[in-house]
Amino acid sequence: MPGKDVDLVVIGAGLSGCALVAALSNKGWRGTIQILEAGRGPGGRCATRRRRDAPLWRLDHGSPTLSFQSEPQGHLLDLMQSLEQRGVIRVDDDPVVGLDHHGAVVAPPDHPLLRGPRWRGIPTMASVAETLLSDGSDQVGVCFGERIQTLSRDGESWVLPGGACASNLVLSGTLLAHPRSLAMLGRSDVPLRDAVPERHDLLLDQALASIAGLNASIRWNLMLEFPAMDLDPLPRQIWLTPRAQQQFGVERLVLQRQQQGRLGLVIHGLDDGSLITPETQPQLLIIQEQRLLSVLPELLGSWPSLQRMVSNAHSLGVMRWGAAQPLEQGMPKALQWCSKARVGFCGDWIAGPGFGMAEGALQSGLDLAELIAS
Ligand SMILES: Cc1cc2nc3c(=O)[nH]c(=O)nc-3n(C[C@H](O)[C@H](O)[C@H](O)COP(=O)(O)OP(=O)(O)OC[C@H]3O[C@@H](n4cnc5c(N)ncnc54)[C@H](O)[C@@H]3O)c2cc1C
Repeated sequence: MPGKDVDLVVIGAGLSGCALVAALSNKGWRGTIQILEAGRGPGGRCATRRRRDAPLWRLDHGSPTLSFQSEPQGHLLDLMQSLEQRGVIRVDDDPVVGLDHHGAVVAPPDHPLLRGPRWRGIPTMASVAETLLSDGSDQVGVCFGERIQTLSRDGESWVLPGGACASNLVLSGTLLAHPRSLAMLGRSDVPLRDAVPERHDLLLDQALASIAGLNASIRWNLMLEFPAMDLDPLPRQIWLTPRAQQQFGVERLVLQRQQQGRLGLVIHGLDDGSLITPETQPQLLIIQEQRLLSVLPELLGSWPSLQRMVSNAHSLGVMRWGAAQPLEQGMPKALQWCSKARVGFCGDWIAGPGFGMAEGALQSGLDLAELIAS
């Protein structure tokens, strides 16, 4: 952890945090920025799983696409055009099919993530956040593998893990501001509340109350490697209808061709509401892996050659994700910057048309940059 004081610390290098630093640089904001990210690289829920034993393997194990409610406008349009021109994204017109509770192929269900335009990261989803990060100025430092569990202040400054200070703080995830931190981090109070007492910043009090009302619905994503095989054209996404989702506990399957004829498949498993704590999680990961493997053959009944290969597929483990749900309400935009406490928020959980999806994450980063730079 670097020991230099900075103007801004951003916790999280997902789409929203990376869009924020890119937009600040674009606006000529000259402050120094330190990004602290728990993961091994940028991307967050739009990240890509790589493997040490197979350097060419790339699996988009969270979001397979950037979904929008409608065509982007304003600064978001500029951003998407710039990414498209540089070959970092392309329109995602890869086939999406539906699957009903009999295992029959049907039209895809009506879902906010499928309704509007979509783009794909090239060559992988992680490329989007990686590019945004590299668009940040040379004033941006990044520290990966740094999971923040507590927040503290020294006077008006935020104290970073190594003891350095930041004048401003941005959270791009909700954990440090949400009551689920009590169980997940074993805390007695929400870390952000611990750092800033009630009534110090009335906007922050409202923001924390709003965040407490957000639900993060859990996804258990099982990643599989299929050996090299000749396959007919396959869909990119297989979305289960609502009844099929209920029956199989699966939202969708995402398929991704790999080098040398191999195939990566991600099963997006739904949660059953079990309590997740640092103690229960290892066992829950095993239970989910077994459950998802057991339903897969039935789900692949319409693709017999793939179905026959399930017993040869190799599990790459389960990843647990928290996903905001596109149909919920988010935290009002007016609370994105709490100027007295000097703390801001970005992420797909900020209210707006792109709530719970990539659109909302990118938009929130652009919006927050306007507020910080003004
Ligand atoms: C399984 C799944 C499928 C999805 N499918 C789609 C889809 O089809 N289309 C679509 O548009 N969207 C989809 N989404 C949603 C999309 O991935 C998100 O909207 C978007 O990636 C959110 O970006 P973000 O920056 O808001 O949050 P995140 O990507 O979650 O970024 C937050 C970052 O902060 C880091 N972080 C959080 N807390 C801490 C901490 N305490 N210390 C250090 N680092 C921390 C995290 O590691 C993470 O990298 C999907 C999401 C999931 C999980």
